[in-house]
Amino acid sequence: MADSSTSTLKFVVTGGGIAGLICAYLLREIGHDVVVLEKSSRKEQVTSDHGGVRIPPNMMRLLQALPRTEELLEAKASKCAGILFHQCKEGERAELVGKMDFAQEVMNDLGCDFYFIPHKDLHEHLYTLCIECGVNLIHEFEVVEVQTSKPTNGNGPRVMNRSGDFVTGDIIIGADGKNSVVRKILLTEEDETEEVDSNTSDSEKSSLSTIKAIVGATLSIPISLLKSDPELEPLLRGENHWMVYMGNGTSIAMARYGPDLYLLDLTYGQHPLPGDTDSEWLAPGTPAQSVLDKAQEYDGRVQKLINLGKRSHWNIQTVHALPRYVSKLNQVVVVGDAAHSMYINGTHNTAASFEDAFTLSRLFSRFSSTQQLKSNASFFLNSYQQIQQKRTRAMETSEMNTMLLLGIPPGIEREGRNSGFKLTLHLDGADDATLERVWAGYVAQFDYDARDAVDEWWMTWARPGNRDSSIIGGVSVISTQ
Ligand SMILES: Cc1cc2nc3c(=O)[nH]c(=O)nc-3n(C[C@H](O)[C@H](O)[C@H](O)COP(=O)(O)OP(=O)(O)OC[C@H]3O[C@@H](n4cnc5c(N)ncnc54)[C@H](O)[C@@H]3O)c2cc1C
Repeated sequence: MADSSTSTLKFVVTGGGIAGLICAYLLREIGHDVVVLEKSSRKEQVTSDHGGVRIPPNMMRLLQALPRTEELLEAKASKCAGILFHQCKEGERAELVGKMDFAQEVMNDLGCDFYFIPHKDLHEHLYTLCIECGVNLIHEFEVVEVQTSKPTNGNGPRVMNRSGDFVTGDIIIGADGKNSVVRKILLTEEDETEEVDSNTSDSEKSSLSTIKAIVGATLSIPISLLKSDPELEPLLRGENHWMVYMGNGTSIAMARYGPDLYLLDLTYGQHPLPGDTDSEWLAPGTPAQSVLDKAQEYDGRVQKLINLGKRSHWNIQTVHALPRYVSKLNQVVVVGDAAHSMYINGTHNTAASFEDAFTLSRLFSRFSSTQQLKSNASFFLNSYQQIQQKRTRAMETSEMNTMLLLGIPPGIEREGRNSGFKLTLHLDGADDATLERVWAGYVAQFDYDARDAVDEWWMTWARPGNRDSSIIGGVSVISTQ
């Protein structure tokens, strides 16, 4: 199966989830050879009707750069009007304690809306785009090993399956999700060298160290079941809000994801509990009962919804806080959940995958000749690492803090949080400066364009005087020959 690129670079993408497909599409679009290796069959992926994706403004900005996005959103997605925060107390109806209105000017100024879409529809859209532009997609190829070699050997890196079949390329992109095989190569290198992670600030480190695994569950509920229940049907009326319910150690977020899907996510604001299990997204669902067991204090309406769940998925995502996204020999790079862990109540896992892909492809679009690309590949990869590690760390930290905040147990701290939230119920007519202050954290995450970040990086570090600066570890010198 080995092949070598004739006019450009050859990328081998392991994993045909959203991160793998968007990387593959963007790299192919700028002329590279791309092969995607996916362990599931095409049928398994097509028949998966589970899960959903949140599209915050920072992801929407990028999605809009792809063909036929408007038609996709029109047919398959639901617009989000804002977030409503509720406090739950066992045996009582949940109380509305806070709200974020996306129509308010400070959000409107971001220039992009917030949407929800079924996972399968976004995945299928990207799959079609990949096929149309000539990405080579191979199913039922489970990568079990990655081999890298010194460039002097003349051999590129390669990936292998259990039968010993292998695919070689210039660069391997690990997009094989939260239990990534490709990531292992980076973790092994880390053990060997005990490298200092200079990119993580002390405050980020202390926040990341509080929780080492993010636990959550997702439940998919067909819209028809809500329609036929008089207590649940009002959830479908009017504008679609992201309904957040805050419990004791956990929180639940739910919304409509397109014409046929209602989705409910339970997230822990605490360490994993005994008996918690991890499962693959494409594995058959575990029963909704296990979610209900963790949601005793929630509003009766929320519990009713949980009972209607047709598929549920338990997820334990370890926080690796990888010191490097790129291997020492600059032949392997990780993206998406293989690189970073952001999950559930937050808005960031798929958005971060899009940002990874746009960052990587924009860097690799800088030159057109194979020689220039090859001689600068390590510079591009290390630039990707510098840009995206900083960005995803910031999002990861904010995600962790949100998780902990939403799950605060009863007591003074929780009352303080709710008093703060309650101020947001009276923001109608507030001036821009006040709104900006209240929602500063969200605005910082949403007001980001991965392409601009690369352009700024390029202006700063690719200028002649800076080409071998220590910030890029002196990995490569740009040659414009
Ligand atoms: C069916 C499905 C439903 C989902 N629903 C939700 C949801 O409701 N909420 C949410 O927050 N997130 C959900 N996710 C996860 C979400 O897609 C990711 O967190 C995010 O989009 C980043 O995607 P990723 O491509 O990095 O990871 P993933 O979406 O996990 O994709 C990884 C891909 O790599 C493949 N793969 C794994 N190991 C190997 C290997 N060794 N060799 C070859 N291929 C391999 C997997 O089969 C998968 O297709 C879902 C994922 C899937 C697959």
